[in-house]
Amino acid sequence: MTPKERTFRILNHEIVDRPSVLSATQTGTCELMEASGAYWPDASFDADLMAKLASAAHTIAGLEGVRIPFCLTVLAESMGCIIDRGRSDRQPAVAKTLYDQGKSPNTEKILESARVQTIFDAIHKIKDMKFDVPLIVGFEGPTTLAGHLLGVERLCLMMIKKPDEVMKYIEAAEEACVIYAKALIREGADIIAPADPTASPSVLSPRMFEKFSKKPLMSVASVAKMSILHICGNATPILNHMADCGFSALSIEEKVDLTTAKSLLKERRVAIVGNVPSAGVLLTGSEEEVFRVSKQAIASGVDILAPSCGIAPRTPTRNLRAMVRAALSP
Ligand SMILES: [Zn+2]
Repeated sequence: MTPKERTFRILNHEIVDRPSVLSATQTGTCELMEASGAYWPDASFDADLMAKLASAAHTIAGLEGVRIPFCLTVLAESMGCIIDRGRSDRQPAVAKTLYDQGKSPNTEKILESARVQTIFDAIHKIKDMKFDVPLIVGFEGPTTLAGHLLGVERLCLMMIKKPDEVMKYIEAAEEACVIYAKALIREGADIIAPADPTASPSVLSPRMFEKFSKKPLMSVASVAKMSILHICGNATPILNHMADCGFSALSIEEKVDLTTAKSLLKERRVAIVGNVPSAGVLLTGSEEEVFRVSKQAIASGVDILAPSCGIAPRTPTRNLRAMVRAALSP
């Protein structure tokens, strides 16, 4: 069984010999930039550099997946937000929302945008490398994208005060995510992995999640056979809603207790991805600690061993390798 076949089986909810080990969230680190010669910020905007840096997480760190891109701004920029390119150790971010530019959301030309075309090119380049691991393509989930278009504070305020008006943005974000997800699969992505941090209970109440985030996520899940939804923070109160959305797997942070998550999702057809603490262990811990925490996650029943959230740029490669060793060793 190749690592790719194993991951596909896990996402198909079949029995396998061991968990896969990969990242459903961003994988660019300073050490991997040095090793591959592909640095931020350019690697977020150039297909060749993106393919080089992303594949280093597989070829050098040993992760059983190649995951692009390194930020959550591709759809935001394709819809007209102005982006700060970031630095060698900082991801691109939205500098000016659509709302602040006085523009209305429009999804018509998103696939023609330079950022989206870069992602398509990077997909083709990585596919040409013929790895036996899955190619995972992430993007901002609908609520996060709506937050990019409006600003997160304005989004939350409008959900309460102007629920009809906010729908124009949420529906546009949903449509953009669906159009993009379909295109990613057509271009060769094996797994789509939306991350929707703004839908986290630390930003939205579970009731608001149900009202504004759930249906758009269901639409995104419906277009792909293999999919992983990542939501940050303590997602325990919305785990069942997340499972209702129809993704093959849910990626959760360390704030979610794995044993609780397993028991809440016991009857559901959904795999669990996570939840080795990205900051508390992978970034700052020793190799021994990474190995021990990873083994604990496996013992608690994680289906795919992974960082709990985006890998921090200063994370040492030896710690990523220690996580990989934990999944591979008996
Ligand atoms: Zn996260």
